[in-house]
Order: sequence, then structure tokens, then C-alpha cells
Amino acid sequence: MADAIQKPGNAAPGAKAASGAYTPAGVSPNRRARRKYTVRLWAVRHSRFLEWFYHRFADAFLLLHPLWKKIGYDRVERPITFVERNVKGFLFDCRMCGQCALSSTGMSCPMNCPKQLRNGPCGGVRANGNCEVEPDMPCVWVQAWNGSRNMIQGDAILKVQKPVNQSLRETSSWLRVTAEAAAAREAAKKEA
Ligand code: SF4
Repeated sequence: MADAIQKPGNAAPGAKAASGAYTPAGVSPNRRARRKYTVRLWAVRHSRFLEWFYHRFADAFLLLHPLWKKIGYDRVERPITFVERNVKGFLFDCRMCGQCALSSTGMSCPMNCPKQLRNGPCGGVRANGNCEVEPDMPCVWVQAWNGSRNMIQGDAILKVQKPVNQSLRETSSWLRVTAEAAAAREAAKKEA
């Protein structure tokens, strides 16, 4: 019954704004409506392939660690962030939180949740699996669970994510993960 009188959400952003409905800052309802979540949902459906690809990509980035170090991580931050923003923006609607959780969330970006929940859905998921805040949008956590079931390391979704460190926003996750992996590898070598 509730669905029968449900007003369209992002499909009518003007009406939504006029109704005083909550609209998360920095999120464009128009953009979301236009893209219809197609690419984002494709990424979730192909989470296993993307998981495989990401591991190869991370290995390649780690191999390039001497190069990043020589140029300076500070110097490469800007161009790499530019590429990361555009590639992940297209594929995942990435919001550049700087602490990517995609490999633990079925390739569904948790920062697209209007409440920005990092550890599972709120209690407001609609019966059709859509978001309670943005009725046209599939709940990112329902998608995260679906995507995780296709992944080899999909049970990583059960791990508790740390709160977002806002100071890392707009920085490159790729470079940070690479620098951390290189530091861990060097520490392990020293111990050995
Ligand atoms: S978790 Fe963060 S870095 Fe990863 S896609 Fe989402 S906003 Fe981007």
C-alpha cells in the first residue's frame, strides 16, 4: 500500500527539493537518475572479475613502488588521484573517501549510501531492496551483499570497517595501499 502512494525520488529532483525531503550534501539526484545506476550495478554483477583485476592491478602498482618513491609519492598524488577519481567515478560512483572498501563490499561503494554507513544497511531498506532516502536507488548494502557472494574473498564483508578518516578524503587509495604494502614488505624483510 505504501508503495502505491510512494512519490518518485530522484526521478523528480525538483519535486523532491520542493517537498523539503532530505538530500545528502554533495550528491546530485539528477546525476544519479540520469545514469540509472547501470554501471554501478554492472560492477556488482561482475564483482568476481573486478576482484581478480584489482589484485593484478594492486600487484602492478606495488611493483612500481620504486618508481613512485623515486618521483616522490607527494608528487604523483595529484595525477594518480585524477585518474582514480575518473576511473572509479565511472565504475562505482566513487566519492573519493580515500579509504576504499570496495574489495570488502562486493564492489558496491558504501559512500553512495545517503547515510554513508560503512558497516551494513540501516533499518530502512524498502521491500523492493531500494533505499529509504532515495527511493529510486537500489540500497548499496543490498548490492554489496549480492556482489560479495560472487567474490572469492567475499566474506571480507563481515569484517567491521573503521570509521571514515575525513582527513584522507580526495586522496588516492591506490597510492596509500601501495605505500602501506611496500612498508609492510620492507618490515617483513628486516625481520627475516
Ligand atoms: S569506498 Fe571510498 S574510495 Fe572506494 S569507491 Fe567508495 S568513495 Fe571511492
